[in-house]
Amino acid sequence: MKKIITLIFFLSFSFFIFYKIFSFDIAVYLICFASAVGFVFQSYWANKLNIWLNTNNIHDIPEGYGVWSEIFSKLYKLSRLEEKSKKELNLTLEQFIAAAEAMLDGVIAINQNNEILWCNKPAQSMLKINLKKNYKQPINYVFRNTAFSDYLEIGEYDETVKILDQDTRKTIEIKVTPFRNNMRLITCRDISQLISNEKIRKEFVSNFSHELKTPLTVIVGFLETLESNKAKIDKETLQIFSIMSNQALRMKKLLDDLLLLSNVESNQLQNRDDKIDVYNLFKKIKNEIALIDKKEHQINFSINKKINLKGSAIEVESAFMNLITNAIRYSEVNKEIRVTWDIEAMQPTFTVKDSGIGISKTHLSRITERFYRIDADRSRDTGGTGLGLSIVKNVITQHNGRLEIKSNLNQGSTFKLIFPKERIL
Ligand code: ADP
Repeated sequence: MKKIITLIFFLSFSFFIFYKIFSFDIAVYLICFASAVGFVFQSYWANKLNIWLNTNNIHDIPEGYGVWSEIFSKLYKLSRLEEKSKKELNLTLEQFIAAAEAMLDGVIAINQNNEILWCNKPAQSMLKINLKKNYKQPINYVFRNTAFSDYLEIGEYDETVKILDQDTRKTIEIKVTPFRNNMRLITCRDISQLISNEKIRKEFVSNFSHELKTPLTVIVGFLETLESNKAKIDKETLQIFSIMSNQALRMKKLLDDLLLLSNVESNQLQNRDDKIDVYNLFKKIKNEIALIDKKEHQINFSINKKINLKGSAIEVESAFMNLITNAIRYSEVNKEIRVTWDIEAMQPTFTVKDSGIGISKTHLSRITERFYRIDADRSRDTGGTGLGLSIVKNVITQHNGRLEIKSNLNQGSTFKLIFPKERIL
């Protein structure tokens, strides 16, 4: 703006001088001539700029003259900066690709239409992708697997999906992570070795527990016999036998729980389509509870006896018993415990609600892990093994249901076992 005002002022001043020296007409001619020269000059450099913009080669930038020299010099600097940041960006991209290639896990980037945009070599071999051929093809067409397609479509990406490759017999774990607008990153890894190790570990625990069971039963039996001969034994020895007997019984309970857990996990031994007569099941449970609790808590049962269940009677009984005994063990005496069996939201549901010590949020997500206890002493003193909820969780998972826990510290807990409606009989 300043420059335009200066130009207008300069032209007016020149016109005035020419007019004073020569005449009005000559002053008009001279000013028109000067403007025409100026116009040709500006057009020449504007044309130069246009030609350069078309080639956009930083080394061919004109030098310019006057104000044009300033413009071209600024353009040169801008182009240099752009070239530099482009180089840096390319370098970062190359480094990122090199890092992604070096990963053992497979990585695939897909767009909102599930089309493959890029993937590293491990992903190419795991999911049989040929990047050149399959670029921009939907991943679910390239890697055909129903579980994977469902996972991709349902969109619950907090979970992972495990897929057994029928050709290689390898198990691949896949996880999707959304990024930017509708883009998704798929990571996949071969977990066959992990699964095989886990299987070996489970087999070891199962065999080990099984082997220990017989000698321990013998020891428990002998200790009971010794204790029954009270008259012949002095008080001190009797006390030692009693402690030994208690510890042996704890070990037996631990082994029983370990064996039960490995049986539930193994998925082979149990028939989970048996008819479970709910009336008889709760009759048995009530008798057992009466022996354990001796009316110390107010246990109220509300059982819909018409709803029978399809499942493994041993496993379901053990899961129900675990939840009820936990409610007893983690509630003060005289507190109320409500046990319910009914249909909730069309699904057969077993609920145990206590008004006991409750569980804080920090522990809630972990209490179904093996041997996870909030207060190990209380657990042991009340005959716990730290495996109860782990068994419960596995039982319900094997019955295609889910465990729901709601609890607040010092306000009690509610445990729900929700079975699928297909299991109603
Ligand atoms: P444990 O034999 O130790 O009871 P579980 O697997 O049954 O093992 O439970 C794990 C932990 O969860 C327990 O040690 C206890 O801290 C907590 N817990 C389980 N049930 C309840 C409950 N009804 N109220 C409060 N805490 C509970």
